[in-house]
Amino acid sequence: MKKYLLVLISGLIFTSLTGQENRKSETVQTITIEELRDHIYYLASDELEGRLPGTPGIEKAMEYAVTQFRQAGLIPFHLSSDSRLSYYQDLTVNKYLPHPDNQIKIIRNTGERTFTFEDNYIIGYDNNFEIREIAGGLAFIGYGIREPAYGIDEYKNIDVKGKWVVTLPYTEELPEYIRKKIPQGLLQKYQKSSLARLLNKLQNAFDAGAIGLIEVSTSSYTTDRWKRIALSNRVHYNIPGLSNLDFGEKCPLVKLDSAMTDYLFNQEKYNPVRNKGSYKSFLFENAEFRLKKEYEILPIKTANVVALIEGSDPNLKNEYIALTAHIDHLGIDGNEIFNGADDDASGCASVFEISEALAKSKLRRSVICILFTGEEFGLLGSYYFTENPPVTLKNIIADVNIDMIGRPDTVPNEFSSVGADRINPKLKEIINAVNKKTSDFILDTVNHNNDFMRGDQYTFHLKRIPSVMFTSLEHDDYHTPADDPEKIDYEFLQKSCQLIYEIILELANGDINLIDQGFN
Ligand SMILES: [Zn+2]
Repeated sequence: MKKYLLVLISGLIFTSLTGQENRKSETVQTITIEELRDHIYYLASDELEGRLPGTPGIEKAMEYAVTQFRQAGLIPFHLSSDSRLSYYQDLTVNKYLPHPDNQIKIIRNTGERTFTFEDNYIIGYDNNFEIREIAGGLAFIGYGIREPAYGIDEYKNIDVKGKWVVTLPYTEELPEYIRKKIPQGLLQKYQKSSLARLLNKLQNAFDAGAIGLIEVSTSSYTTDRWKRIALSNRVHYNIPGLSNLDFGEKCPLVKLDSAMTDYLFNQEKYNPVRNKGSYKSFLFENAEFRLKKEYEILPIKTANVVALIEGSDPNLKNEYIALTAHIDHLGIDGNEIFNGADDDASGCASVFEISEALAKSKLRRSVICILFTGEEFGLLGSYYFTENPPVTLKNIIADVNIDMIGRPDTVPNEFSSVGADRINPKLKEIINAVNKKTSDFILDTVNHNNDFMRGDQYTFHLKRIPSVMFTSLEHDDYHTPADDPEKIDYEFLQKSCQLIYEIILELANGDINLIDQGFN
């Protein structure tokens, strides 16, 4: 992820903050570089095999977490089915493995042709695993853009109800005639943030009544690249009994290779891939696109780790701050181990050190520390937690989530604090004020590539709980076997943890009210 905009935040000081200017709390001294390093070197060691849910590696990581919490004096906070308090909130994640004989038929009155899964197409999203066949006609809708305020509506006069919407890929630079019409700020949404743009496309297709979105290829992939894309999209996950988490993926997405793209267009009025320029939307003359998808379901048993620091105020202790990170990562591929030192051993180590300091501090409100499983499968551990919380959700007043916080990029002294203004902007004000009082970070609050919906704080946000993600953002080793402990900047990490500790201290002790103000 590349940065494209920096916002320098100047903090405000609020009267609810106690103590002297530029003074750190004393217990913050227990957050040490040595301990942070020890935690990360263990969690991201080869012995833990990339901490994939359902493997012994993540079990060891969870045992380590429980030991840390217990030693720091945190108590177990999940009420298990036999009415005992446990550090483990057990859950099952379903893995959906596509059948190798899944296929797509394109049927015309001149004949039909069958394309095989992963040779010719990939399923990018599947919003409903129960539906085994989706069939309908097709409509070509250019880039799938609807910005009527600027005179662009590629859906205009085309009825796509019950049809597949065929679009050009979002990786493509938009053509001149569209770029000219859209103002610069909005254009960034389409050009810089591929995820936002894709979600927008899916939403438009869904709103227009389409049964699915197809993205064609405008140039051919190398076999190697296509295989990698196929592999990273092959398997899907969800929690049994819960609908898919709402990321805004409203309908299925099918990506075609260039051979299938060619076949799809070759009997139509014109082939937009071959004739680039000013695209016009059109309905396909006579073609049915029939997708068959079946999955083998493999249940994976895993757990979140949940621990509590109880507040001391008789009333306020029933209000909770969630301090969270994710303990899972990507496991092993062949003989390469994805150690995930930054992603997110750095967050877990931070939670250990911050909670140790909090347990020694005077807190009016309580703090729940949670290390989630299944984040890399699509925030599934935190989704399960927010559907099965140990206390009523309205008593959780904020979630502070830490995801990838050990690799600052080129701007010194900067890290990201994303989403704190989305339910109640007071959370952001508190963060800025504490930063100004106790640290000197430049807090970047820009949601660069939809980062906010890519971390566990998002599931709290969906439940209208004010939440923030602290992160030092992506880097070249993101989701590669090279995300290793020796690349972490431990001084930066210590300083970040000390700030987050001070923020939680303020959230736990301040006279604050973070009610939902209806923002997004
Ligand atoms: Zn990750």
